[in-house]
Amino acid sequence: MTTTLKTDQSMPFDNDPAGASGLDPQTLLVRGGLDRSPNRETSEAIYPTSGYIYPSAEEAEAAFKGEAECYIYSRYGNPTVKLFEERLRLLEGAEDCRGTASGMAAVYAALASQLKAGDRLVSSRALFGSCHQIVANILPKFGIDSVQVDGRDLEAWRAALAEGARVVFLETPSNPMLDLVDLEAVCDLAHKAGATVVVDNVFASPLHQRPMAFGADIVVYSATKHIDGQGRCLGGAVLATKDFIKETFEPFYRHTGPSLSPFNAWVLAKSLETLELRMQRHCENALALARHLEEKNGILRVLYPGLPSHPQHELALKQMSGFGTVVTFEVDGGKERAFRLLNALRLVDISNNLGDAKSLATHPATTTHQKLTEAERAALGITPGTIRVSVGLEAVTDLRRDIDQALAA
Ligand SMILES: *Cc1c(COP(=O)(O)O)cnc(C)c1O
Repeated sequence: MTTTLKTDQSMPFDNDPAGASGLDPQTLLVRGGLDRSPNRETSEAIYPTSGYIYPSAEEAEAAFKGEAECYIYSRYGNPTVKLFEERLRLLEGAEDCRGTASGMAAVYAALASQLKAGDRLVSSRALFGSCHQIVANILPKFGIDSVQVDGRDLEAWRAALAEGARVVFLETPSNPMLDLVDLEAVCDLAHKAGATVVVDNVFASPLHQRPMAFGADIVVYSATKHIDGQGRCLGGAVLATKDFIKETFEPFYRHTGPSLSPFNAWVLAKSLETLELRMQRHCENALALARHLEEKNGILRVLYPGLPSHPQHELALKQMSGFGTVVTFEVDGGKERAFRLLNALRLVDISNNLGDAKSLATHPATTTHQKLTEAERAALGITPGTIRVSVGLEAVTDLRRDIDQALAA
């Protein structure tokens, strides 16, 4: 499948490989992957097709032999999906990218394509709910030896990796307690143990954390979150070397069908054009709200990697250039007080989604992390008073006022 970007109407730099253009990420987000049709449309075209035709039987044969660069079937590749993949690839500075139907399809395919029975998988314990299900329940059913460690604790990583591993999987910052994993140190330990490192980079976004710069081999996204950012569709992506995609990922992806739909790919590619602007505002609002909450009575603690009070703030400064859109805090008064606050919100909606233009609040202990045991929740630091807010794009003055009146309820 071709990864070059061209056509008569494209800008000259569209042919540049990642990085070589010297273009700013914001320019790549608007222009990357542009491949205009002969109609010379300004906005990217959408190709809602499942199949493709061949000018001759010989060319069909060549396509199936892998000797012709053309589309064969949209489960394998599609021009609109390619647009999204190219745009994200250029931003990430990765060699290759594949779009997936959801973030979970990206996570599962990135892990399952590499692992076989008897292999060892070491993950951080603090993971998005469904990621936890994959490493703790689903992959072990296929004979994968799966171990979870406290991602903040380098000694725990060292001990777990001393026995060797095939794959390391981690999320930083983590959901919902915003724990960080030291990317450079863990990638180093993982590589010494012979493992490849898969990083779920959803909470930081591709703009504010570059796991590959710290040694990560594979980066996965739920594009459903900040990349769409407007609550419209599901999507995901896997970014890695050309070699990994061709030799390991593609044989799994092509035949198991986690492909992204062209329509969703088009929405996501267009959303990338405004990602930087949106992330800037999201992060400003999140920091302002976190600071505001720190000053309030009735709140036991506020977690946000951008606050100097965050236990790993130094690490955040080292490996992130923005601190994300989620703020987690604990109210004094447990579940009853947390529910009272959530039910009193007038502007902020109760929802388990995140990374949306609309601010959303959830109670992790009874929603996203309900399936965990009390002990598992306690190990992650999720208490009955914990509330997670995905800070949106509204005016921060209105958000502050809404939280204040809900706290007073
Ligand atoms: C939402 C999310 C996922 C899963 O993505 P979907 O698009 O919902 O399948 C995975 N990891 C993290 C950190 C997420 O926030």
